[in-house]
Amino acid sequence: DSTKIMDCLKQEIEKEGLSDEVTVSITGCFGFCEKGPIVKINPDNTFYVHVTPADAREIVTEHLLNGRAVRRLLYEEPAVKQAVRRQDEMCFYKKQNRIALRNCGFINPEDITEFIGAKGYLALGKVLTTMSPDDVIKVITDSGLRGRGGGGYPTGKKWYFAKIKEADQKYIICNADEGDPGAFMDRSILEGDPNSVLEAMAIAGYSIGASKGYIYIRAEYPLAVNRIMIALNQARELGLLGNNILGTDFHFDVELKYGAGAFVCGEETALIHSIEGKRGEPTNKPPFPAESGLWEKPTCVNNVETLANVPAIILNGADWYSSIGTAGSKGTKVFALAGKINNVGLVEVPMGTTLREIIYDIGGGIKNGRKFKAVQTGGPSGGCIPAENLDLPIDYESLTAIGSMMGSGGMIVMDEDNCMVDIAKFYLEFTVEESCGKCTPCRIGNKRLLEILTRITNGNGTEDDLKTLKELGQIIKDTSLCGLGQTAPNPVLSTMKYFWNEYVAHVKEHR
Ligand code: SF4
Repeated sequence: DSTKIMDCLKQEIEKEGLSDEVTVSITGCFGFCEKGPIVKINPDNTFYVHVTPADAREIVTEHLLNGRAVRRLLYEEPAVKQAVRRQDEMCFYKKQNRIALRNCGFINPEDITEFIGAKGYLALGKVLTTMSPDDVIKVITDSGLRGRGGGGYPTGKKWYFAKIKEADQKYIICNADEGDPGAFMDRSILEGDPNSVLEAMAIAGYSIGASKGYIYIRAEYPLAVNRIMIALNQARELGLLGNNILGTDFHFDVELKYGAGAFVCGEETALIHSIEGKRGEPTNKPPFPAESGLWEKPTCVNNVETLANVPAIILNGADWYSSIGTAGSKGTKVFALAGKINNVGLVEVPMGTTLREIIYDIGGGIKNGRKFKAVQTGGPSGGCIPAENLDLPIDYESLTAIGSMMGSGGMIVMDEDNCMVDIAKFYLEFTVEESCGKCTPCRIGNKRLLEILTRITNGNGTEDDLKTLKELGQIIKDTSLCGLGQTAPNPVLSTMKYFWNEYVAHVKEHR
């Protein structure tokens, strides 16, 4: 529909003789998925939602020719039932701080000159002309940036370990193998602002001494793949990637590798094996990839969102970034807000924002006036958080402390009609399907957990089953080889902790 809308707008603009004054341009995702397709009119920042090709005529005649907003296409705030005209006045955007998403919805991702116009490649220029690799690592370390893919490992430390390892070749890998159900942060960044990731990879390469980078991306993301390819070619043509970047003696180029959709390949050692053409299975760490990674060379694996923060940190400084967030978790985090919520979409908030602010102020509250029951953070590796924790300021530590995790940023909201045992079963089905089968606790243990859960939801469960669920879940967490198995029981254990009555009711009901 978006392409049709754009064509219709162009036709109407031409018909009215406005082609010299008005440009119609594509952008990446605005983040407000619930309200798409979106048309934004600049410079007045008017934000039209649920636009159809048939609306093009009215937008041109009313708005462009007469300066009157098309009221029926404006967004209505659910809390006050009032139409809002400007993007910066909408509650969905007001509480956000968009750093990783800074260019998404603002620039044409297929035109590198727009990225350059938005300070793109300025950070790379600064790094190559005024900073040593150690300076770069110090800024990233001091900023407090931690891995946004789920692990939360300090990015500067990772770069440092790769830098100090002597080797004739080193690699940067961008992990774009986003696999959590309901998560689309990385896809959106790559579709809306691919050059920021390429620029960050070059900066990372300079800091550790790597001349080669790989983007490991899901083959199911064709638009993201297409836009990275366009960005890569345009950057090479302008001498921003390749040999002698910006006239210096720094060489760095990037290649794409396609993942086939295996969730476990998001784990860095499995991902590295997959790039090497081997079966995508995790291996024990140490050695960590920073020491011995791709083809046994020092390798930094950073996720898309982590990298998207890097140019902004280089330009604005470590103090600027570390002034945002909480004591242990600096900066912002992008969440994919989905489920029973009014404003489904991508949101980027400072660490330390409460769940209540995200769900009610930004998310517009629960759909159809229903009551909030829980929110699952961290995808299939995370846990369900109940209403009593709505005022929790979220960061890596606080989420782990209550039995969930940050993960890559999936946030699925449930209302009073959701059965929490069914929710736990849904996530477990996913992890059982995605287990690579290498280690026994995950391969066999999670299957047994699922059998028990299925028995319970079918009405044949016993109180002994509940006991076994808890014990077995903990054993799987303690003994699995990689993060997938270590976190797979989280949805079961967290729902048992906070919604025990629902498990008991299932068992009692069918006694
Ligand atoms: Fe494979 Fe699961 Fe073991 Fe990870 S925990 S290595 S996914 S079997």
